[in-house]
Amino acid sequence: MVSFSSNMEQSGWYPEDALLPISGLRHMAVCERQFALVHIEQVWADNIYTAEGSVLHRNVDAPHYETRRGRRLVHALPLACRRLGLSGRADLVEFPAKMDGGSPIPIEFKRGHPKPDDVDEVQVCAQALCLEEMLGIPISHGYLYYHQERRRHEVEIGEGLRSRAETLAKRMHALFDAGKTPVVDRMPKCRVCSLEPVCKPEWSGRGVSTWERWHKLLKESGRS
Ligand code: SF4
Repeated sequence: MVSFSSNMEQSGWYPEDALLPISGLRHMAVCERQFALVHIEQVWADNIYTAEGSVLHRNVDAPHYETRRGRRLVHALPLACRRLGLSGRADLVEFPAKMDGGSPIPIEFKRGHPKPDDVDEVQVCAQALCLEEMLGIPISHGYLYYHQERRRHEVEIGEGLRSRAETLAKRMHALFDAGKTPVVDRMPKCRVCSLEPVCKPEWSGRGVSTWERWHKLLKESGRS
């Protein structure tokens, strides 16, 4: 059952120092254990996919703005949503030429191709929810731009996606407050997860730090 975070203020909103990264929501959408390893145990490991993603984002992460065809394009815009306890950055937000010319559009850049799950869509939705709270206007859609395809895909910020992002955010705060790495069964997606070598899903429930201590002990006793 999803519980509300003890970090919430009486208003039901999170204070600034209790905000968690939007990227955590993405990890939650992949696997709760992945979120806990990265954000509770502070473990990270790259594979070819995450390394390519980092290089791509190095090129889009510099904050600046430009104007094209009357539209203001703001790169690396800081975002926050106190209602859901999220903070992060949008790769790009397109603002209309006139404030009555439509709503801002968050655009997230990704390597590769569209994925069969909704992980990327959840991230764009979280950015839209932040913009809605910050600007007080509804956001109807965003875009995912996939570099391998060199084209963008529209993401409708519909009820289903909003509810998914909100549920994940509440669950993420509950897990973070509990401070425990959850037990999960090994899944097919573990094969492409960069954390697989340190996660040891078959050791699930012990957490990386415990596993490392155990491994060290075995090494010291000559059994590894
Ligand atoms: S290896 Fe599997 S269980 Fe471990 S973090 Fe990755 S997806 Fe989750």
